[in-house]
Amino acid sequence: MKTTTIVIGAGHAGLAMSRCLANRSIDHVVLERGEVAHSWRTERWDSLRLLTPNWQSRLPDFGYEGGDPDGFRTMPETIDFIARYAHAISAPVRTHTAVTSVTRSGDCYEVQTPEGTRRCRAVVLATGACNLPHVPAVAEAVPRTIETMTASRYRNPDQLPPGGVLVVGASASGTQIADELQRSGRPVTLAVGEHVRVPRTYRGRDIKWWMDVVGVLDEGYGEVDNLERVRSLPSLQLAGSDDRRTIDLNALSDIGVRLVGRLAGVSGDRALFSGSLRNQCALADLKMNRLLDRIDTWASEQGIDDRVGPPHRFDATRMEESPPLQLNLAAEGIRTVLWATGFRPDYSWLHVPVLDRKGRLRHDGGVIEAPGLYVIGLPFLRRRKSSLIDGAADDARELTTHLARYLDRRGAAERASSQEAPLNV
Ligand SMILES: Cc1cc2nc3c(=O)[nH]c(=O)nc-3n(C[C@H](O)[C@H](O)[C@H](O)COP(=O)(O)OP(=O)(O)OC[C@H]3O[C@@H](n4cnc5c(N)ncnc54)[C@H](O)[C@@H]3O)c2cc1C
Repeated sequence: MKTTTIVIGAGHAGLAMSRCLANRSIDHVVLERGEVAHSWRTERWDSLRLLTPNWQSRLPDFGYEGGDPDGFRTMPETIDFIARYAHAISAPVRTHTAVTSVTRSGDCYEVQTPEGTRRCRAVVLATGACNLPHVPAVAEAVPRTIETMTASRYRNPDQLPPGGVLVVGASASGTQIADELQRSGRPVTLAVGEHVRVPRTYRGRDIKWWMDVVGVLDEGYGEVDNLERVRSLPSLQLAGSDDRRTIDLNALSDIGVRLVGRLAGVSGDRALFSGSLRNQCALADLKMNRLLDRIDTWASEQGIDDRVGPPHRFDATRMEESPPLQLNLAAEGIRTVLWATGFRPDYSWLHVPVLDRKGRLRHDGGVIEAPGLYVIGLPFLRRRKSSLIDGAADDARELTTHLARYLDRRGAAERASSQEAPLNV
């Protein structure tokens, strides 16, 4: 089977790419191992809602048209939104077609699926950034008597045995799950490492609105000092809910969640925590205030101060005078450790030498170091918003432009060599 381009993955990013390819009449197929929006169907907890408002899901030629632009989609609504997009753009998706291998053969790629092998000139990896949970090595030392679970396996509090929970990681997933578990009656201890604190609303507007208009989300990958670092930054401490609550560490302390430092080790029944909690929180407060300063400056420059609320600052993160450096898990009644320590992509099926020693793709803004191979949907791929639904449109357009030029150049080279061919006979 021959196709010009194969897109692997039918999440929003693969579909955005499909739309841009179709707009340039580039023949392609989208191969998806499950259903459209498979990750949202199978890897998210029941109560999860998007932390980006409804308006912030502008895909190529498709966006939110309902009556609640500032609301936050539930999981069924998110799945429906992405499935409607696939339908609206008539994306050529083949569902239940897992790609088991991609290899380079001559100047083509061979893409293997259980149905057979397809050859193509270009491949777009749109398989997501969150395929596998990133679980720290210390997990090995957790006593077998304690249940462990990752955020992608977590569905709701009823899944967990009765008793306390140690949630490790205080970014979007960790703080949201800690909030839900504590409210369900399970005492939660939250191990806090580096995190990014932001309020849900500021000066009467959603923080995502501010980040959008100020231009934070459009910052390009060539504009930052340390690209490797920004690509590995934790997600914002943010949640979507009807009451637009801020779920930061102060809000969690207020409902009884106990804060401890980053989980540094486990020895027998004892969990050992880093002494950096105070510094981590001070740094997160400082960075939040820098963002708010930037917003205030922008609002003044634009002359909109009288149309939004007055500038103000939030309380510094509160914590115990001397947060514990170790806890006896059994004595504290902790029955579960929940890893909310991030995710990583899975490229076990990619047999092209384009991974660095840490298993990350070597790419320049999504253009991988192999001709005709592209990736979309990774953190800060081309801009700060790249891993968000709202970030796919610009990235897909630019990558499609690059891909189209690549195909044109190849076509021209092939035509030239076929005209020369008779001379060689
Ligand atoms: C818990 C969580 C909450 C998030 N909340 C938000 C939010 O509020 N707003 C926001 O904008 N973003 C959010 N994101 C980030 C991002 O939008 C999602 O991760 C999104 O799912 C990424 O879209 P994608 O298309 O890049 O990847 P995915 O949605 O993961 O799609 C990749 C697709 O590729 C398929 N696939 C993978 N491997 C193969 C293979 N070998 N063969 C065939 N198919 C394959 C998968 O089945 C999947 O359907 C969140 C992420 C997580 C993890």
